[in-house]
Amino acid sequence: MRYAETGFNLEIDLSRGNIERVETDPRLTELHLGGLGTNAKILWDRVPPETEPFSPDNLLIFSTGLLGGTPATGANRTIVSTYSPQTLLMAYSMMGGFWAPELKYAGYDKVIFRGKSPNLIYVWINNDKVEIRDASHLKGKGAGETAELIKQELKEPNAQVAAIGLAGENRVYTASIEQGRSSASRLGVGAVMGDKGIKAIVVRGTKDINLARPAEYMELCNEVLKYIKVREEHPVPGVMTILQGLGSPQEMKHVDEEWHTQNFMWGNARTRKKDYWNKEVEEKWKETQENVRKRLISCYNCPMKCGAIISVPGISTYMMKCFSKLTYTMAAYSDLDFGFRIAQRATEYGVDGFSTPQIMAFAFELKEASILTDADFAGCPSDNEGKFFWLLDRIVRREGIGDVLANGTHWAAQKIGKGAEAYAHNNIKKHEQLPLKLGMLNPVYFLMYATGEKINITQIEGQFPQSPFPTMEEREEFVKDWIQVPDEKFKRYLLDWELRGERSNPYYPTVDMSVDIVDWQEKMHYIDDALGVCAGLSSFPLKPPYHIHNYPHLISSATGIDMDEAGLTQAYKRNRTLVRAINVRRGLRRADEKPPEDHWKKRFPELEEKLLDAYYKFKGWNHDGIPTKETLHDLGMDYVAEDLQQRGIINNEQG
Ligand code: SF4
Repeated sequence: MRYAETGFNLEIDLSRGNIERVETDPRLTELHLGGLGTNAKILWDRVPPETEPFSPDNLLIFSTGLLGGTPATGANRTIVSTYSPQTLLMAYSMMGGFWAPELKYAGYDKVIFRGKSPNLIYVWINNDKVEIRDASHLKGKGAGETAELIKQELKEPNAQVAAIGLAGENRVYTASIEQGRSSASRLGVGAVMGDKGIKAIVVRGTKDINLARPAEYMELCNEVLKYIKVREEHPVPGVMTILQGLGSPQEMKHVDEEWHTQNFMWGNARTRKKDYWNKEVEEKWKETQENVRKRLISCYNCPMKCGAIISVPGISTYMMKCFSKLTYTMAAYSDLDFGFRIAQRATEYGVDGFSTPQIMAFAFELKEASILTDADFAGCPSDNEGKFFWLLDRIVRREGIGDVLANGTHWAAQKIGKGAEAYAHNNIKKHEQLPLKLGMLNPVYFLMYATGEKINITQIEGQFPQSPFPTMEEREEFVKDWIQVPDEKFKRYLLDWELRGERSNPYYPTVDMSVDIVDWQEKMHYIDDALGVCAGLSSFPLKPPYHIHNYPHLISSATGIDMDEAGLTQAYKRNRTLVRAINVRRGLRRADEKPPEDHWKKRFPELEEKLLDAYYKFKGWNHDGIPTKETLHDLGMDYVAEDLQQRGIINNEQG
């Protein structure tokens, strides 16, 4: 009997139209947990590193996490893995919503696609019955519209649909996969789905999940709920309002945007508007948001309500979560009303709300600099908002200049030339980052930006405050009930961290402390992504209900696997190292681990090198960020070492 997981994957070969239900190896669950961990193992084993993202040999994996669909609050993530067309590295984009639990209730842990369908199709998974169906009538439809049409066609209002819009069909590198309440947006997973000819994956499941020790598990889940309530009643004082509570940034609840609008950059990540936020703006933005927000909504089995149903007069209702209301607004130097209007169209097209606005602002900057010409923008309206709508349409259709821009700022700049590369100034590993440009280098953030492979900063950070508390009283108050720390030393790090002087950025936290902090944060993210638990309840916010001390009990009682903190840490290390090895095999090296030149005004090249050296050493990687033979051996991954050795990436002696 398998517990918490079903023990079966669906393997769908789109070239042959073949569908198989395949039993999985329980030993892999013990080693990699599930979700991201087992996705990485499948990619390592089955997709040679030479494979192009748009090759039929590339896999596209939709995975539940190990705890997905169990009564654990927030265990609802779908982890989508493939090779990214934008970074050319492994992509593992996540989405919340209801899709992954439904897949488990249908009897599967993962759906693994290989090959390509010659025609546009959708996949209908209805418990044991799985069909590939024609989707030619859905060509060009929006992602939300597609979901509605399919549910009507199947007469299954409760089915969960993950769909692409026009952007995915046209292999736009920033194409997302949308599923109503959430989306997998980063790294072009929607483009790979479109390339495979899949318009949508529809799931209905009505089976049970077995738990190893249900009574014990329920008790632990109830503890989590109780803690959420306590945290709701006691917001963390002394940090910016968006970080005071739990949840994935609850932008639809939240109306105080002082921090984002004044600290994040506007336009093509260029301008900081120091005094933008005032009483008048605050009232106007509050009114706009409250007028269009019809209802707050949550993902499956979660009380946090991070998203909302948005209804703007004259356009279809849609769902928004997180930060996209601001990304379009700030890219266009516009107001919130514009943000809500363009986000509706962008969601139907299915595009990443972080990258796409930056690409558009980048294009208009190139036009101002005469690198792009009037001919490139023939037919473009002159008003600011009209321009953005016009360009969004061109990008998702790959028409004219939109075709070049559809590959993201890195590849577009390479193609355009004439100095355009200097305008693609906000990328790490060829991918657009949060439009942040700051003053003093923060060593912890330097490491997270440089070495993160998820290419989404909000899913690397968490746990440790972003900046020091000004007074000792505030620090002492914060550490008092900080039960999540894996080690008491983290309390000391925070108590000693000052705003100014010797114990401040960039030299404090020290190099070794910074590595410790990053490792803790990364550990929690990798565990969440393997378990399928939302980062908004674990690795992202301060003082979350899930942490390194209660996760082992939850895993043991759900799965029957004998798990403790050391075992969980080992599983995390294995998964982290395997993701790194996959990317190393695809060419990732130290030289790629660079935050943008202008990310901080004050840079410290020597310190940055020391930080990278210490991080690699801590991980058991060599000077170039490549896992050593010894590390791989200790993690039971000699097969990885042999492969890297055969390819000449590591040599015999390299310890
Ligand atoms: S915390 Fe927010 S994003 Fe996370 S599962 Fe709950 S509602 Fe969804």
